[in-house]
Amino acid sequence: MIKVNVDLQRCDANGTCAALMPDVFQIEKDGTLVQLASEVQDDRENDLEEVILCCPMGAISRS
Ligand code: SF4
Repeated sequence: MIKVNVDLQRCDANGTCAALMPDVFQIEKDGTLVQLASEVQDDRENDLEEVILCCPMGAISRS
């Protein structure tokens, strides 16, 4: 499993990550980001890397 980290201090809740991995990231009705999963399976590494690169705020990382 790969741990997914979001720095909510950086996040501006633009929704890019939620569009790409909706089972992991979700924008709530109040406009805030909620992380639905703290880990993803190893076989989703490429998807996670894409989300990390696409986050315009550099708020997502893995460990
Ligand atoms: S893509 Fe980045 S800035 Fe946008 S909602 Fe996701 S974590 Fe926040």
